Amino acid sequence: MVMSRCWCCQQPQKESIEHIFVTSPTTYKVWNLFMGAAGISVQLIQLKQIIRHWWYAHCCPKLKPLFQAVPAIITWELWKRRNAGKHGGSVSPNMVIHEINRTLHQLARVGYAWIPNIPLLWPDMIQYFEGYKPILITTRVTWQLPFHGWYKSNTDGASKGNPGPSSLGFCVRDDEGDVVYPRAVDLGVTTNVVAEAKAILQGLEYCVEHDLHPLILETDSLMMKKNDVYIKGSSREGSKLTRSQKGTISKPGLCFANPA
Ligand SMILES: [Zn+2]
Repeated sequence: MVMSRCWCCQQPQKESIEHIFVTSPTTYKVWNLFMGAAGISVQLIQLKQIIRHWWYAHCCPKLKPLFQAVPAIITWELWKRRNAGKHGGSVSPNMVIHEINRTLHQLARVGYAWIPNIPLLWPDMIQYFEGYKPILITTRVTWQLPFHGWYKSNTDGASKGNPGPSSLGFCVRDDEGDVVYPRAVDLGVTTNVVAEAKAILQGLEYCVEHDLHPLILETDSLMMKKNDVYIKGSSREGSKLTRSQKGTISKPGLCFANPA
């Protein structure tokens, strides 16, 4: 009987799925390193058992998708190493470990694009995510009624990932503070700035179409504030604003007075 010999060991052994992916010395070392850091302990006998342990391992929600990807990343690098050996090349165990770290780091960066300074190495990455606390800064914001006879449109746009899945919203209220019209729109994949700008635009368009003016537009967009975006009205209503009123309403970043 002809038995194929493995390409992964210095003293070739019988090649099998279990040998390449579970029991060869290099494979053993790689699994132990990554499982040790993750606190997973499983006897290295069967591949599907290892995969199951990674899949159901207890970890913080941020690590879950990474844990579930680990078996595919490790087996892929081991398979590449085996093929390099078969075709006359050689890949050191340290190189395999390096490539796995690199892929996991890239996966974390793509998955959590808004989180800075994700560590390069797997054990550090685990510590980092286990201890990760989003920085929350709270500012008290009070909403003020528009002037008598005026309307106010509050707008907001957000992007998860920037660029990423985005949406906009605006809400128009009258001078009693009652809601006249609210809208929320899914924008698909775009950026924060586009979402903020479209929120302002749609709010504005709605109010123009429905004669809801004079109007104050309020946005929380820093970009819109920085660029000092103003849409100036030129009508009688607009010119009725006193100097102090103009000062007050230009603060939120955008002022719109009577488009007619
Ligand atoms: Zn081998």
